[in-house]
Amino acid sequence: MPIPLDLNRMSDDMTRSDNIAPLQISKMPEIVIPPDLLPSDGRFASGPSKVRPQAVESLAQVASTYMGTSHRKDGVRSVVANLRFGLRELFALPDDYEVVLGNGGATFFWDIAVTSLIERRSQHLSFGEFSSKFANSVSLAAKVFTWLETPQIIRSDPGTYPNPVVDTEVDFYALTQNETSTGVAMPIERPENIRQSIIAVDATSAAGGLRIDPTQFDVYYFSPQKCFGSDGGLWVAILSPLALERVERIASGDFSTARWIPPSLDLKLALDNSRQEQTYNTPALATLFLMADQVSWMNEQGGLSWAVSRCDKSASILYGWADQSPYATPFVVKPEERSHVVATIDFDPSIDAAQVAKVLRKNGILDTEPYRKLGRNQLRIAMFPAIEPDDIKQVCSCIDYVVQALSSKPYRR
Ligand SMILES: *Cc1c(COP(=O)(O)O)cnc(C)c1O
Repeated sequence: MPIPLDLNRMSDDMTRSDNIAPLQISKMPEIVIPPDLLPSDGRFASGPSKVRPQAVESLAQVASTYMGTSHRKDGVRSVVANLRFGLRELFALPDDYEVVLGNGGATFFWDIAVTSLIERRSQHLSFGEFSSKFANSVSLAAKVFTWLETPQIIRSDPGTYPNPVVDTEVDFYALTQNETSTGVAMPIERPENIRQSIIAVDATSAAGGLRIDPTQFDVYYFSPQKCFGSDGGLWVAILSPLALERVERIASGDFSTARWIPPSLDLKLALDNSRQEQTYNTPALATLFLMADQVSWMNEQGGLSWAVSRCDKSASILYGWADQSPYATPFVVKPEERSHVVATIDFDPSIDAAQVAKVLRKNGILDTEPYRKLGRNQLRIAMFPAIEPDDIKQVCSCIDYVVQALSSKPYRR
């Protein structure tokens, strides 16, 4: 494992307040996983996620001519152009779709949707932490913005997803392809009888790892630090002609849509800059580079179908292991709803999953803790395209090893 010891300690300290009772640490026996069981890379976080070492090396190679140079000049703008073109190729976008980007991540894009995309009323499918955050944010906005109606929110329990309910009042449907907090993936299909309403998909952890048909959405938005194995800080949105028309109309400020749009939340301004291979304000150059590198890598390997089948392979290993295991069960009950990019695995009450995650962390296998607020006896393991399916297999062996060591007489160093 390439993780130095103090880094391990530091991560422990950082998560302690969330997940771990500090006093247990000294009492816990040291469990050392045999090296032949360990994965080749210990990063299994659901975001920020594993960055391919080759991408970091490529960045280091161009650092002296790229990092610290103007984002208005060709060096950086060509990376933006490669990224936008690469995404067009990856998703096989129709010619009249556009790739737009800006600063702030998917969370920031929720606020952009409020000012630049929702006309009067949105409908939100709320089935986990991220989808509920967007819904809550629009609810708050509707309290102060007179042009915005209270959004419709359709909820379902964690571990499931709800379906949209077509309503003529709704001009913006907010779907989430992969609820990263619970490990549920939903199919993205444009409901019938919807003409002028926008289908907006939070694809933050899905884009690049799950199948998607561009004709089924109008807005497909995501951040770089999940399937695209880069760093955080940017949002990317793919817009259909219907979404582009909406952006233009709202930005034109005609009477029916008049509203205050701060420049940082102005999707038209972001669109105009993207068309010139720029962002409205200064972007994180390393993030751009690493994302463009990942998109090229995916396209070279065989495109989206290649990336998706790699995630399918990891998922079949992990869920297959959990199905066979006497103590582990996939949290999402219906197999077809289980995410192939983020797996959530429940443990038998006799096993403390937090303890397992802690031992894994000490052995360099990082960030297998579940989403805090879900509050389950669970591990969450990312299976993004950058992660080797063989490493997923190794992690399953490591979990078995740790569980055995914790439940029988523990192995001591
Ligand atoms: C990670 C995530 C977000 C938040 O992304 P940021 O880049 O941190 O804003 C939103 N939605 C989903 C589904 C996510 O997985």
